Amino acid sequence: MIQAIDILAIGAHPDDVELGCGGALAALRERGKTFGILDLTRGEAGTRGTPEIRARESAEAARILGATFRTALDLGDGNLRTDRDAELQVIDVVRRARPRLVFAPHEKDRHPDHVRASRLSVSASFYAGLRSLVREEPAHRPQQVVFYLSSFVAEPSFLVDVTDVFDRKVASIRAYASQFYDPLSEEPRTFISSEEYFLGIEARAQTFGRLANVRHAEAFVSNAPPVLADPVAAFEGYEPEDPAPRAGSRYPR
Ligand SMILES: [Zn+2]
Repeated sequence: MIQAIDILAIGAHPDDVELGCGGALAALRERGKTFGILDLTRGEAGTRGTPEIRARESAEAARILGATFRTALDLGDGNLRTDRDAELQVIDVVRRARPRLVFAPHEKDRHPDHVRASRLSVSASFYAGLRSLVREEPAHRPQQVVFYLSSFVAEPSFLVDVTDVFDRKVASIRAYASQFYDPLSEEPRTFISSEEYFLGIEARAQTFGRLANVRHAEAFVSNAPPVLADPVAAFEGYEPEDPAPRAGSRYPR
């Protein structure tokens, strides 16, 4: 049941949100913020599992992270629709959930559905605020859409320390038993079901954590710089560094 929350996390497929920003959501929940999850598809194109299994798994993952609600549209896994009808369906969710902030996939990614989901999230979040667009629910425009990372790495605009909730993020990913590494599974091996992929989830969080001298962090990209209430606290644990060796991006492409 969709209701008003602080953050709406949008993913193309069930499990995208857990992988990209599950830690930040769990950490924000600890700080009293509420969130809902919108999956744009049912994940029916996945090589492993079935939509029914994934629906059960995604409900359990949402429970582990502390979501207020999780809802799914049916915009087509493997050919995500971004036409006006699709946009209106997302607009209706945004208007009902009335989020202050939207988490969406970063548009530079290996999976074309993530690219489309990113653009759809931005356009729907903007158009949801148009009073001239009359729907059942009144207009609402979130403050901002910020982007979590999936496969590719981008220069973060900010990091969220997820050290204290990293176990919960991993548990939410493990809830998708049909999708990820399981040495006993007889289903076909896929990009995300390899042991290397699963190990990479923690490696990614550690890499971003190293930038901020914390154990695990998730990275976000924002088109507008966030305002820090307390820059002193925001750089707790950092050290000054010589930026010269890192001119341009500090990450290999
Ligand atoms: Zn995905």
